[in-house]
Amino acid sequence: MRATITQGTGKLLETVELPDPEPLNGELLIKITACGICGSDLHLSDALDFPGIVLGHEFCGEVAETGPNVEGWRIGDRLAAFPLVGCGECTFCLDGSTSKCATSNQLGLQRPGGFAQYTTLAASSAFRLPDRIDDHHGALVEPLAVAHHALERTRRDPTAPVLIIGGGPVGAAVALWARHLGAKAVIVTDPVAHRRALVEEAGATATIDPGTTDVATEFARITGHAPGVVIECVGIPGMIQHAFDVAAIDAAVTIVGVCISQDQLVPLTALQKELNAQFVLYYRKQDFTASIDALTSGVLVPDALITGSVSLADLPQRFQSLKQPTTDCKVMVEP
Ligand SMILES: [Zn+2]
Ligand SMILES: [Zn+2]
Repeated sequence: MRATITQGTGKLLETVELPDPEPLNGELLIKITACGICGSDLHLSDALDFPGIVLGHEFCGEVAETGPNVEGWRIGDRLAAFPLVGCGECTFCLDGSTSKCATSNQLGLQRPGGFAQYTTLAASSAFRLPDRIDDHHGALVEPLAVAHHALERTRRDPTAPVLIIGGGPVGAAVALWARHLGAKAVIVTDPVAHRRALVEEAGATATIDPGTTDVATEFARITGHAPGVVIECVGIPGMIQHAFDVAAIDAAVTIVGVCISQDQLVPLTALQKELNAQFVLYYRKQDFTASIDALTSGVLVPDALITGSVSLADLPQRFQSLKQPTTDCKVMVEP
């Protein structure tokens, strides 16, 4: 099969021939039909000096073969991949919170992921996709689950206005879900004009350019009060403090952005307002179900998030270009 692999820190990915994987006990062989490129793939390719990794954890596909002891799946069945593998027995796994399992592994990191024609996946981590959900939307189930999980864990009234900091793929997915779950106003801040336009298409009711406009004042002008729900979706130093600064007294502040460097903040800001700060990562299996249900019924329309597609042959160059400022949101690999 063809697959696109890492070559080590700072080097271009390379598309190569690899042996076809074989499904083990309880696994499916999956023919991948679409795999989203995630910001974390871009970061990981620079941070990890391990050549030979098949990245990609946002994918869907169809069953090409069933391994021993698999029931309920047939060749050709379509599915979205839950890309985490745990022990299946601990309290976290039983709760669907596989990311918290002590033995948790991720496809597209510790195991081969979706930048390939085929991969293998435990049948218990496959979520059936109805024909109504096309391949691009199927590959969005994972990022939509991230957004759903973030809102689930935020202590809030679902109708309360939401302030989202950052209009990238994560912020756009949170905006989409927040609207669908009933938020009266969903206001996204981003300094980049085309991102503001994109999130408005995705469902934000208003956007703010934080470079020219005071965020808290503008939010209050639009909604009548300071932000009681703030979701941070950027993940660079200074953003948590910014979220605390603009939040109302007693607000819920949820941090979704993955910041891997040192950051500084003034705890007194949060103390004085008695903020509820919630950090979130990944999702539970229930968030996959919720995303698939909402896509199936048609209430969640994520087309605005998808801005392009690319073959495995062209992936190394396209992947590199996404590390620069870009007008793209979610680009789909079509292996
Ligand atoms: Zn991702
Ligand atoms: Zn476990």
